[in-house]
Amino acid sequence: MQTCNRCIYHSDIPKITFNTEGICNYCEQYDSMNSQYPTGEAGRKIINAYVEIMKKDGMGKPYDVVIGVSGGCDSSYMLHLAKNVYGLRVLAVHFDNTYNSKIAVENIKTIIDKLNIDLFTYVVDNSEFEAIQRSLLKASVPEFEAATDLALATTHYMACEKYGVKHIWEGHSFRTEGVSPPGWFYMDAKYIKSIHKKFGDGKIKSTPLLWLSKWIKWMVVNKIKKFRPLYYMDYKKTKQRNSLQKNMVGNGMEVIIWKTVQRTSLIIIICL
Ligand SMILES: [Zn+2]
Repeated sequence: MQTCNRCIYHSDIPKITFNTEGICNYCEQYDSMNSQYPTGEAGRKIINAYVEIMKKDGMGKPYDVVIGVSGGCDSSYMLHLAKNVYGLRVLAVHFDNTYNSKIAVENIKTIIDKLNIDLFTYVVDNSEFEAIQRSLLKASVPEFEAATDLALATTHYMACEKYGVKHIWEGHSFRTEGVSPPGWFYMDAKYIKSIHKKFGDGKIKSTPLLWLSKWIKWMVVNKIKKFRPLYYMDYKKTKQRNSLQKNMVGNGMEVIIWKTVQRTSLIIIICL
């Protein structure tokens, strides 16, 4: 058993390799991304230039950007950043898998009310979604939240298509969330469907899954692009959470950190 000299990954992690200094390939990947996505002044320039493109693309449309919201810190901060700092017209989008915590729902309502941002919500059929989750449990695959993650991503594209929006902002930061080994997580619509067919009734009607044909259409025909501002910022989650609690919504809101490792993997698989 070899453990990375820098992080906690060890030789049981899928696809891991170690360099001569005992540093794993995931740490090297992190370093490579760190230099690829500059922060500070260089990062600010990149975001500013991108925002200008977004504003041009948004002309004649009701919104410049779609941002997925979960009620957690990162997505709440994204709303503040897009609207208050960059002056973008934001459509908040939420996929409700019917497992939302009360705090998450309250946070979403509080922040969109406070910022006066419209909300697009897609609520899945509870019995169908539970059946899919049961199939994933029976299959004993590690990516148990794959259906939720795919549905989240699909709902963002659906909202973009509906309103002609060309840009999606994601609140992911590889600096705070790390890099997931590919062997731990895999997901695509066909994968979920095949598991549900084998371990359940195979019926998927209301759960939006990212089918390849749809995804290609959204990217090629609708020209929808994803952007991650936090890649270009010195993002400190604790600081922003405190700031949101203090300045944005007051003491009535509890900003929770609601995210899963699976969501991180989704972002890496789809967007890199
Ligand atoms: Zn490492």
